[in-house]
Amino acid sequence: MPRLIEFNAKVTKIHQDDSGVTVDYVDSNSPDGATKTIRADWCVCNIPLTILTQMDINVSKPMKQAMAAVPYETSYKVGLEFNRRFWEEDEWIFGGLTYTDMPIAQIAYPSQNMFKDGTGVLLGAYGYGPTSYKFNSLTPQERINVALAYGKYIHPQYPKEFRAGTSVVWHRIPWTLGCYGIWNESTRRQHYDTLCSIDNRIVLAGEHCSHIPAWQEGAILSGMDAAKRLHKKAKMLV
Ligand SMILES: Cc1cc2nc3c(=O)[nH]c(=O)nc-3n(C[C@H](O)[C@H](O)[C@H](O)COP(=O)(O)OP(=O)(O)OC[C@H]3O[C@@H](n4cnc5c(N)ncnc54)[C@H](O)[C@@H]3O)c2cc1C
Repeated sequence: MPRLIEFNAKVTKIHQDDSGVTVDYVDSNSPDGATKTIRADWCVCNIPLTILTQMDINVSKPMKQAMAAVPYETSYKVGLEFNRRFWEEDEWIFGGLTYTDMPIAQIAYPSQNMFKDGTGVLLGAYGYGPTSYKFNSLTPQERINVALAYGKYIHPQYPKEFRAGTSVVWHRIPWTLGCYGIWNESTRRQHYDTLCSIDNRIVLAGEHCSHIPAWQEGAILSGMDAAKRLHKKAKMLV
């Protein structure tokens, strides 16, 4: 059976004409390597709009306007590893969340390995919105420092027990450049139907083409809907 999925294929250009779609891509592990090309009758594209709007793609002007009309929410997370599970041993906290009014927003406690000795990892910061832009502008080490500095007001054990940390800020992830598409009533009215329409031989799918953005459910429903509509259109052309 031929390989159906080609991994590490970073699309650089999508060009359609009346008989099909040509997609250029490079190996994302060696982006300076040769550009490869693949041709198909149709293209279902779920590349996030943050990236698609920067790509060479020949869709209609209304589609381009719709693609550019959806900004993306931003988010940050910091993971902190500690020498021992002090939240369980000292404070009897087993799973769950602490919501704070500090820039770390919340602390989440692990639901696995409860009652075990040894190290444990907390989600030491997880938030959205304006605070996220501040986290985006920090280095990875600075983000950890902020999470430790605020978290110790909740758990004074932080400085003594800290082992290691890591962080993700979604606006700096090259293959998403943000979290999810943000819609309002006005952009829905003006652009949603266009964004979901079949633009000659290209149809978009993903959470950004759904009424449930930011959820896997929206992405899956959008993919199923796009495939159904495309199938119907393709059958009509046979
Ligand atoms: C912090 C955070 C927490 C979340 N929590 C939840 C949750 O608890 N429950 C839930 O249901 N959903 C959650 N979501 C949302 C969920 O992850 C998304 O809605 C879903 O993954 C969107 O699916 P998608 O197919 O639209 O996009 P994606 O899953 O982002 O897929 C897009 C794909 O395009 C690829 N791509 C990008 N650029 C290129 C390129 N140039 N060439 C080729 N490929 C490219 C990417 O690598 C990626 O694989 C969360 C999202 C975030 C950011």
